[in-house]
This record gives sequence, C-alpha cells and structure tokens, in this order.
Amino acid sequence: MNAKAALVRSAGAPFEFIDVELTPPRAEEVLVRIVASGICHTDVAVRNQDVLLPLPMVLGHEGSGIVEAVGSEVRHLAVGDHVVLSGDSCGHCQSCHRGLPSYCDEFIPRNLTGQRIDGSSPMRGAEQDLRGRFCGQSSFATYTVASGRSAIKVPKDLPLELLGPLGCGLTTGVGTVMNALRPSPGSSLVVFGVGTVGLAAVMGAKLCGVAKIIAVDRLDARLDLALDLGAHHALRADDKVVASIRELTGGGADFAVECSGVPIAVRQAVDCLGRPGMAAQVGATPAGTEIAMSMDHMGFGRGLKGVVMGDAATATFVPYLAELHRAGQLPYDRFVRYYDFSDIERAIHDSSVTGEVIKPILTMP
Ligand SMILES: [Zn+2]
Ligand SMILES: [Zn+2]
Repeated sequence: MNAKAALVRSAGAPFEFIDVELTPPRAEEVLVRIVASGICHTDVAVRNQDVLLPLPMVLGHEGSGIVEAVGSEVRHLAVGDHVVLSGDSCGHCQSCHRGLPSYCDEFIPRNLTGQRIDGSSPMRGAEQDLRGRFCGQSSFATYTVASGRSAIKVPKDLPLELLGPLGCGLTTGVGTVMNALRPSPGSSLVVFGVGTVGLAAVMGAKLCGVAKIIAVDRLDARLDLALDLGAHHALRADDKVVASIRELTGGGADFAVECSGVPIAVRQAVDCLGRPGMAAQVGATPAGTEIAMSMDHMGFGRGLKGVVMGDAATATFVPYLAELHRAGQLPYDRFVRYYDFSDIERAIHDSSVTGEVIKPILTMP
C-alpha cells in the first residue's frame, strides 16, 4: 500500500511531500483513507522543535477518514466506517480503566515517539528512520495505518471533512471545562487565549450554564468571535487583565482555563481566581518552563490543574461532541478554513503566523 505523506525532516524545515509505503495493519490496527486533517498548534510546535520530538516524522493528529481494512482484534470497526482519529492508549492500565486514556501509562511511547510501542513504524520511506505513528495516526498523509484504539466511529451523515478537530482541539477545550473543571450553573469562568481550544472552552462553558464567561486574547477578531460563541465579556491580554477580571466577577473568578501556554498567562489564570477557585492549564508551555506562584494566594482554596485532552474518554466523548455539533450547540465550523493538502505551508502561515485563520483543515486529494 502506497501513500503520499508530508514529512518534517529537521527543525523548522518546510513540510516535504514524499511517497511512503504502509505495512498491512496488525491485529490491533486499522488502515484508514484520510479524508481530511486539522492542523493543531502541537503539529507546528513539533515542526519548529519548540516541543522536542524525534525527527524525521509524519505529523498530524486530527485526522478523519474511512476505514479500508481492519485488524483481527479490532471489534468496534468495520470496513467503510467513518472515523475520527484521536490519541492512542494501551487500554489496560489503571488510567485507561478509569476512562482517562490521556493519562495512560504508555501515553508518551504510544503518541509522542512517532513509533509503535515496539519501536517500529507502519510507514516507511526512503529515509531509514521515518516515524509514521504520531499520536496513534500520523494523519498528514493520504492513507495511514492507525492504532485501532485511536479510531473512533462517527455517524456517516455528518460532514467527515469537518470532524477531525473533534479528536484533539475540540475535545481538549470542551472536555477541560466539562470533565476537569465541572463548573456549576451560575459560576464564572475565564478563558485565556481563544484559538480553537479556547473557543471550544467558551462553548463548553456556555453548555454548562456558566453565567459569566470572560474571554482574554491579544487579537480583537478572536475576542469578537468568542463573544459570538457565548462569552459575556472580552478583555485584551495585558498587565491589567487580572484587575479587570476581579472587578467583573466581584472579587475573582470561580474557574479559569489557560490555553495560550504563555507563562505569564498561567500566572494570571491563577491570580484572577476567587476563594476557592480552580485554573486548568491546557496550553503547552516550552520545555523546562517554571512559573512562580504566590503561596499566600494559593492557600485560600485555589489550585492549578494540568489537563491533557480534556480528561476525556475519547471513545465516547468524540461522538458526543459530534452530536452537539449536529444539534447546533458546537458551531466550530464558523472558525474553520479548508486548504488542499499541498497548501499545508500556507495553512500554517495563516493560522500560526498571521493568526487570521483559527482552525485550518487540510483536505486530501
Ligand atoms: Zn492537538
Ligand atoms: Zn493505558
């Protein structure tokens, strides 16, 4: 089986389109024809090596596609099924049994090495050490052999090319609010950084009945969109933002979600909390980041929780989000722009450099 894939060879290098050979799916794997793949901030961070993962690797972890072949041990899928690809997990450790696959004992080897757990790659190219199993999938390709546990069946009557971002960005934003913070109706919640994950957090907070949703960002266009999608207040990210939040909430917010990964924003997300209050850290901070906290402030029932993939049991949460979208309650199509696979560099430029596009999705030929 042959496919075209976009390879990152070295730090900051442009994506290179190459021919790859796929091994047949093993017992616990599936062959998927990729229809589309969202581009997530993490893909760009790995390409630039702000997140240090081994190269050369085929990235992409918001794939959607159609199952073409199913390994003998994969019970939940059949040929022809529409799937969203999400992260991989082992299925048998304590976190997996508790429905928290993103805290799987094998999360790092299964998702961040670009290889199977045994060190092999289902994708081969001219380069000897090509890594074709990023986040269980490597979806920047026309076909991929994915982990069966990464592949989540979705309804066939929904637009498949739109669904890939449910596998990471939307799950992370909505899940962090619904699963990790669980705000009660009437509470207040601040979202720092309203890109895909932050806007998903705003929509999640609205669904939870949060009475005061405050969006913080540097870009006015994104703040306007946050207001359209359910935020009640929009604030520019500056050094007065904590004081403004305290004023808007009458002393401090009940919850905060930090999506930017900017260290000062992490501190602000904790500083803006009332008594008690909980902040969730979602944005990937650069490796080795340390942040000073005031323990006088933390002492009064305040906390900071790191959250990966929205604490979501993705096998059920992704279909749940698909149904929310169908019902008009998760209108993330409003901030998507489609690009041909070959235009991957322009898609990254428009989203990561100028910030004019929030969620680029690549459609495969
Ligand atoms: Zn992602
Ligand atoms: Zn596990």
